[in-house]
Amino acid sequence: MTATAPDAENAESAEATEAAEAAEAAAHFRFFAPEVVRTRRLGHSFLRVTFGGAGLAGFRSGGWDQSLSLFLPPAHREHTVLPSTDEATWFGAWRGMPDEERPVMRSYTVREQRTAPDGAVEVDIDFVLHGDSSPASAWAGRAVTGRRILAIGPAVAENKSVRFQPPAGTTDALVMYADETALPAAAAVLERLAAGTPVKAFFEVPHERDRLELATSADADITWVVRTDGPGRAERVVEAVRAAELPTGQAPYAWLAGEAGTVRAVRRHLVQERSLDRRAVRFTGYWRLGASEEQLLAEAYAGQAPSEEPSAEL
Ligand SMILES: Cc1cc2nc3c(=O)[nH]c(=O)nc-3n(C[C@H](O)[C@H](O)[C@H](O)COP(=O)(O)OP(=O)(O)OC[C@H]3O[C@@H](n4cnc5c(N)ncnc54)[C@H](O)[C@@H]3O)c2cc1C
Repeated sequence: MTATAPDAENAESAEATEAAEAAEAAAHFRFFAPEVVRTRRLGHSFLRVTFGGAGLAGFRSGGWDQSLSLFLPPAHREHTVLPSTDEATWFGAWRGMPDEERPVMRSYTVREQRTAPDGAVEVDIDFVLHGDSSPASAWAGRAVTGRRILAIGPAVAENKSVRFQPPAGTTDALVMYADETALPAAAAVLERLAAGTPVKAFFEVPHERDRLELATSADADITWVVRTDGPGRAERVVEAVRAAELPTGQAPYAWLAGEAGTVRAVRRHLVQERSLDRRAVRFTGYWRLGASEEQLLAEAYAGQAPSEEPSAEL
């Protein structure tokens, strides 16, 4: 046996872990070429875009809050084109495209996947329409049947882009916060929860008509917070949480997702004022006021090519 200095051993094992993780990510995620099958308006702010086509063959959502990365074409292009969809080269090729031709990469949630007996896949994605000057929102607003995009999505159901992971066996209640961007994920989570699971949920939406009907057999008590403009948006949500009784389970799990500042404020409240175990709080900033996803990605990657779809985690 060769003796190795502890540092070298650690460095080698860190390298091996990194390589194993990269290989796992490569096996779990790959490019798909979905096309728009139909669209449907939900509520005031939501547009459901249903994708299908042969380019979705082999897509395997893990359910819950499964996310994926979409590549959406610039306004003057009908379909998304990338110079490479090869795992090793796509990132550099995409970054190297001229600004006016480069598709935007955006994170979204698989609201639902349906797979027909013949293997044909349909995937619903619920887009929040928040204005025509934001590329993804604008693309959704003009989506029509037949438009083809590219996506990096799951090829296996057990993958790291399912963030809803309550500790098995010990979690007996759930606290949820979602704004409109995370409502699709929250709705998918609620649908899958075991009957009778105690849930206290806070859903913040921009408009009265965004209080969507949500199906669940959990014992869910939902407080809707309809946003008003101006300062104090995070405080309004925290006030609603502060005023509420939380489920009195032995080991509640909290799942928080939405605008980064509000998510952080709710997390702070739960950990500092309600004594939730910080390890049982899963929190994800889905977007940040005043920052496009490019800016968040630049921070998240800090120069590294992603091997799976990104998330602007706090
Ligand atoms: C894991 C994950 C899952 C997500 N799932 C969904 C989903 O299912 N549906 C969904 O709609 N979004 C979802 N999002 C959020 C979505 O990726 C962001 O809202 C994204 O910024 C939208 O891109 P854009 O091109 O429209 O705006 P950008 O170009 O990224 O941003 C432009 C400007 O708009 C602001 N902005 C971004 N989003 C909003 C918004 N919703 N309302 C108001 N202002 C906004 C930004 O702060 C920025 O100032 C998810 C994000 C993550 C990380």
